[in-house]
Amino acid sequence: NKASSSNFIKNIVSDDLQSGKVAEIVTRFPPEPNGYLHIGHAKSITLNFELADEFKGKTNLRFDDTNPVKEDTEYVEAIQEDVRWLGFEWDDLRFASDYFEEMYQRAVLLIQKGKAYVDDLSAEQMREMRGTLTQPGQNSPHRDRGVEENLDLFARMRAGEFKDGERVLRAKIDMASPNINLRDPALYRIAHAHHHRTGNAWCIYPMYDYAHPIGDAIEGVTHSICTLEFEDHRPLYDWVIEECEMADKPHQYEFARLNVTNTIMSKRYLKMLVDKGVVESWDDPRMPTISGLRRKGFTPEALRAFCREIGVSRAYSVVDERMLEFFIREDLKLKAPRTMAVLQPLKVVITNYPEGQSELLDAENNAENEAMGIRQIPFSREIYIEQDDFMENPPSKYFRLFPGNEVRLKNAYFIKCEEVVKDANGNVVELRCTYDPETKSGSGFTGRKVKGTIHWVDASQAVPAEFRLFEPLLLDEEGDSDKEFLDRINPESLTTLQGFVEPNMKEAKGQDKFQFFRHGYFNVDPKHTSPELVVFNRVVSLKSSFDP
Ligand code: ATP
Ligand code: MG
Ligand code: MG
Repeated sequence: NKASSSNFIKNIVSDDLQSGKVAEIVTRFPPEPNGYLHIGHAKSITLNFELADEFKGKTNLRFDDTNPVKEDTEYVEAIQEDVRWLGFEWDDLRFASDYFEEMYQRAVLLIQKGKAYVDDLSAEQMREMRGTLTQPGQNSPHRDRGVEENLDLFARMRAGEFKDGERVLRAKIDMASPNINLRDPALYRIAHAHHHRTGNAWCIYPMYDYAHPIGDAIEGVTHSICTLEFEDHRPLYDWVIEECEMADKPHQYEFARLNVTNTIMSKRYLKMLVDKGVVESWDDPRMPTISGLRRKGFTPEALRAFCREIGVSRAYSVVDERMLEFFIREDLKLKAPRTMAVLQPLKVVITNYPEGQSELLDAENNAENEAMGIRQIPFSREIYIEQDDFMENPPSKYFRLFPGNEVRLKNAYFIKCEEVVKDANGNVVELRCTYDPETKSGSGFTGRKVKGTIHWVDASQAVPAEFRLFEPLLLDEEGDSDKEFLDRINPESLTTLQGFVEPNMKEAKGQDKFQFFRHGYFNVDPKHTSPELVVFNRVVSLKSSFDP
């Protein structure tokens, strides 16, 4: 079900096609390769690619690689992997750096037209002279340099004659404009830095506001979609298209960025978590990155459904993180096999089950999806159950195991707790139970009822497993400075437990997904799983108090 509901951008596209303003739509997704993509980017990706799909247009993936110091090929590769994994394929793969020469030539054109000048002011002086919302800015003393002098200086900037920060090329627009973005914005800066694609060919780099419209125009992008913080930059976008005499005239449209509760959506902060070792890597399952969500166990289908559901608007909003959880539960409900895992094992010996004997029991793979069939699980004299499925002195309404009580073992028999074995410190280390062969699951036994059903795995054949449970990476309080940000980190965002899964899980591969009875959905961690140990990441627990 591709066709998502309407939104204002779709209406614009549809009108533009109908009126003949454009013959075909072209969109682009323009990440800067300075980090891994996050869930906010997934919204932009889904929007751009689905728009083009729906109206039979094209979408380019364009790396906005104009800031060499922060960019890296590692990010370029990770971004491509993430876009493809989400289920989208771009028409052309482009880099802003492909256009450096053309951008330079267009800047020369601006100088020739008297629309740009080289300024010697420092960044700080320029900031001071830019004015404020209520005060016009002041002209730079270099604003009226002649064309020849500007051409010469700009050529020397390119040739590497100046140090970083010594000169910039500025647009000559209007220092009194009520829109501060039009107060002679910088178009080029000097940066003697190695670029991940152009190497040391350049030591001047175009600014985003200059590079972006030119890149769009060169690619024939018709609808250049970005987030609302660029709304005030649109007049500059249009100015660049016009004054640089670009043949194609793309238009910029803005939508509200995605915000999710308890989730940081900024590469800068995410990078800080990686650099400080707070998380393992960009794809740590606690990260709101696409790769982190993938490793946690999210599916592309769930992320795309989420992006469609939240829709596209110009109104600021924060989406409840439980909405993401809702979509992954929905997606896995019928897909994921349901098996049993014991996260915190307690050994149970079934004293009346013959030693050395075992049997195979039938278990449904998914009670809601019969097509998934049944599997066979071993049962014998020793099993593991969950530690908190037993209490020595239970409160009333506790229906699981306690001395003298009988419960149902899921897919197996009723067992009754006869004896509690403790170690020297008084910790419960083993239970001795009896089972009733009459009560076999599926046998139609109705002789008596029990209130509790608990899960288990056969001890002799159980496969050791590690379970990683996650809590939000950030505590709730707000803070803006970097220090406060690091103070907000939740020290308990990861809990690791050692337990067991059913024997057939030996074959589980990285990214396989399961529902563990009563525990929720889990994903096989592709990085930490080894032949000796299967590592599971919890995607989401089973219940939520929230449905959209
Ligand atoms: P960050 O602020 O996290 O570093 P960014 O905006 O600098 O993100 P870019 O790589 O420049 O990251 O973004 C690529 C595209 O993704 C842009 O069009 C941007 O508007 C869009 N985008 C980024 N964050 C969000 C978000 N939270 N919601 C929707 N779109 C987003
Ligand atoms: Mg950016
Ligand atoms: Mg940003």
